[in-house]
Amino acid sequence: MKLFDTFARKKKIIGLASDEVKIYTCGPTVYDYAHIGNLRTYVAEDVIKRIIERKHRVKHVMNITDVGHLVSDSDSGEDKMELGAKREKKTAWEIANFYTEQFLADMEKLNIKKPSILCKATDHIKEMIYLVASLEKKGYTYLTEDGVYFDTSKFKDYGRLARLDKEGLEAGKRVDMGGKRNATDFALWKFSKEKRQMEWHSPWGIGFPGWHIECSAMAMKYLGKTLDIHAGGIDHIPVHHTNEIAQSEAATGKKFSKVWMHVAFILLEGKKISKSLGNYYTLSQLEEKGFSAAAFRYLCASSHYRSEMNFTLDGLRDSENALHTINDFYRRMKEIKGSGNENRKISAYEKKFWAALEDDANTPNALGALFGMARFANKNINSEKSARKIIEFLEDADKVFCFLESEETISDEEANMIKEREKMRKSGDYMASDEIRKKLAERGIYLEDAPEGTRWKKHEKR
Ligand SMILES: [Zn+2]
Repeated sequence: MKLFDTFARKKKIIGLASDEVKIYTCGPTVYDYAHIGNLRTYVAEDVIKRIIERKHRVKHVMNITDVGHLVSDSDSGEDKMELGAKREKKTAWEIANFYTEQFLADMEKLNIKKPSILCKATDHIKEMIYLVASLEKKGYTYLTEDGVYFDTSKFKDYGRLARLDKEGLEAGKRVDMGGKRNATDFALWKFSKEKRQMEWHSPWGIGFPGWHIECSAMAMKYLGKTLDIHAGGIDHIPVHHTNEIAQSEAATGKKFSKVWMHVAFILLEGKKISKSLGNYYTLSQLEEKGFSAAAFRYLCASSHYRSEMNFTLDGLRDSENALHTINDFYRRMKEIKGSGNENRKISAYEKKFWAALEDDANTPNALGALFGMARFANKNINSEKSARKIIEFLEDADKVFCFLESEETISDEEANMIKEREKMRKSGDYMASDEIRKKLAERGIYLEDAPEGTRWKKHEKR
């Protein structure tokens, strides 16, 4: 498959060199619930991973940031973990455990596959110290009152990922640089100014790792010096990923990742998502409003991962309906029993679907092909052979989209009620047949009369 590489600003083919594709995705900072903006990134990454898995083995590492992610990207402000602890009057460790659990529960609801390795920053302090020491040995670091810093002027290509204008950054730098030599320099290790809940000994003094060094150390520990794909939200481009590249490549002399993949933002009703303004939803909040996690997953997949996506509750409702349409289509195909040959048009739709996914995970185009197939099939398909082909296709596509609902069943009694009702309709007793329809609706079973018979479903259009 081809994937757009932010670094080269072009699409690249994935998995050319080896059978195994190594993916690192930046995980959550576990100081609060994930919001729909965070979740969009994880869903998009999961969709892409599942597309790759059709043809390759995938080794996927995701981190849990449970220390060192400061409120400000410029290495100032409080550690988000300690902030969460203060807010909830718990220890930073309790906060980390609680929100890690919440995050994993969200992932499961969204059908996001677990990574091969899920690693906590606090379990890898030794590896981080080792990486900082090797950068020190190579002359990339300097000490300030505040900690150990990376000297970005020593890394030739600094800022290339974001096409950062270094001169401009230097000229526009704020007066308060602390002890930093360049505006873009960043902390590898920060000293504890006062006693912290999370702190460790290091060759430079008691303190904690910088957020960026965490990802580099863990990614390289589990995946080696060069990854195939490093992924995250576009907000990671100018600082976090830029710094990950500088420190990793300075330490190894090798390219850190062949492809940098970034997922665009979500807007909420046209506005930027902001935690401080309360302008966001969590997955649980959407569920409380009666939406399913599957609908949110589908909504994410219905726009391209590199396009900004405007989230609205109406859009989510449409997604819920689209899921119903796909599942009705799937069920209808299972009922077709006619003879006849396979319709050739089906494989054309199928081809279009997979080609779209292989081309930079173009999920909206793929879904377009799927709905094209559904419209065509609902009108023209009545042979079991064709229907079988469509069923297989939908089950295959489901491995990427996760849109099929688990089998729904009705009791024998309910099935008999439907049969009775059909007899009544045939004999023209519409009053009695309508009574049965109402009774079934009270049980959450909805009927649809079609020329080939009556179908039931367990949902109603919202
Ligand atoms: Zn990261």
